[in-house]
Amino acid sequence: MSLSMSLSFNPDTVVLPTGHHIGGRFVELPGETIPVLRPSDERPMGHVTDGGAAAVELAVTAARDALARTGWAKMAPRDRAKVLYAFAARIEEKAEYLGRLEAMGSSRLISGTVTGDAVRTAGVVRYFAEYCDKLEGIVTATKADTLSYTRREPYGIAGAIVPWNFPMITAAWKFAPALAAGNAVVMKTSELTPHSLLALAECAAEAGLPGGLFNVVNGWGHTTGAAIVAHPAIGIVSFTGSTKTGAAIMALAAHSGIKPVVLELGGKSPQIVTNNPGEIEAVATRVANAFMANAGQVCTLASRLIVQRGVADELLDRVLARTKAIKAGPTWDETTTFPPVISKTQFDRIDGMVQQSVAQGAGVLTGAARLDGPNEGHFYAPTILTDVAQDNIGYTDEFFGPVMSVTRFDDIEEAITQAQHPTYGLSASVHTQDLRLAMKVADTVEAGMVWVNQHGRDPEFTYAAGGWKGSGFGKDMGRAGIEEFTRQKAVWINYL
Ligand code: NAD
Repeated sequence: MSLSMSLSFNPDTVVLPTGHHIGGRFVELPGETIPVLRPSDERPMGHVTDGGAAAVELAVTAARDALARTGWAKMAPRDRAKVLYAFAARIEEKAEYLGRLEAMGSSRLISGTVTGDAVRTAGVVRYFAEYCDKLEGIVTATKADTLSYTRREPYGIAGAIVPWNFPMITAAWKFAPALAAGNAVVMKTSELTPHSLLALAECAAEAGLPGGLFNVVNGWGHTTGAAIVAHPAIGIVSFTGSTKTGAAIMALAAHSGIKPVVLELGGKSPQIVTNNPGEIEAVATRVANAFMANAGQVCTLASRLIVQRGVADELLDRVLARTKAIKAGPTWDETTTFPPVISKTQFDRIDGMVQQSVAQGAGVLTGAARLDGPNEGHFYAPTILTDVAQDNIGYTDEFFGPVMSVTRFDDIEEAITQAQHPTYGLSASVHTQDLRLAMKVADTVEAGMVWVNQHGRDPEFTYAAGGWKGSGFGKDMGRAGIEEFTRQKAVWINYL
């Protein structure tokens, strides 16, 4: 990887991939044109076409041919791993290009997309390459003269549909384990951020992954996305996105052959801070980052701060100071620390929900408005709401923007009761020096992921991410992340 001195770049100079990537090459297909805008200045950066059922059919045919031609599912696992290692290396070689594509087309900042998102994407591919020969079954207990064992086998063709907030990483969590397990992949980009994922498919082809094993199509959810879910040859669908879309996908998958789905959905995650949270400056930084990072466009965003009375005022003063210390700006400027919201639609949605929350009785500690400044694009001010009752939209719904509500508590039981959410169960955190309280929260909170003294995932690959309740089911990453792309077969041999 060659890194230039400065990470900042001129977005007008970045060459975009065009078309769908099917059968190992870019393919132009007819379809409705979907313009793609740069979130930082709302200028058109390119377009894709809605591939619809025709693009999905072409991709499925390519996938089926590739599986038959290459024996991908049946080859020695080490040989599959070798190709994936080459794919990872190619991503690293092109990390600067991929990082620029990601930064210009999404809300991700260039300060984090090259050595962060792009290099981490390579790491995800390498992590799952290492699993190729570690998918094991078990021998089960039987009477004499019989052998009973389980095998993990791929589904054949795996479908995947991804959102726009971390376009490369979220996609890699799906295509890398699916490929490593021996599947071919048909994946849909988000219509808002298609280009970096298309460029990853190009990396795969350049690295020698046989054409047809990793296909990337573009289009709307209700057309191209639905065609993936409904296609009879696609054996499993892994989806990341909103809870509402997840429910629609689950219903469609049920009517399309009782197809298994993995659903990584929305959240309304709490973070609890106790009276003895550790060094207050560091805690304030963590708490602020947990709702402001990526302008709040993070599924595990800590949208509900639950703070013990003794530390509440001091903590809030420090968090407030951090909401003023941001530098909003274009994503391609390496000095920017606070990015725009992905689109006008999303901006209007966030603001509409905030105003509704206020109309329903919430108080405003800061924000609740467009962020003042010279920037183009749609920047929403970091917003802290108080007095958010449990029937207020600020409590019930996911905003997916830099918005956090604050409530106070006296004892930990009260904090845990507040932390449980009727709909969501994606993640939760507790900041405390009291191990007993930390363990109580970790043991009792209804969430698929819990952190102590941090909020949000480490860039480790071993941690299986996924939610409970309305936040979905199934896991991305870790051993569980690759097992999702296999199905178990039980074999019984009577050798008398
Ligand atoms: P979304 O549900 O609107 O769209 C996600 C993807 O689904 C897009 O590619 C879209 O085109 C497609 N889609 C939409 N309707 C479809 C349909 N009927 N059939 C098939 N596909 C369809 O979500 P979004 O706005 O892109 O992303 C934001 C949401 O994603 C938030 O709710 C966020 O919490 C969630 N998210 C969850 C995780 C996680 O790991 N749990 C990670 C990132 C984002």
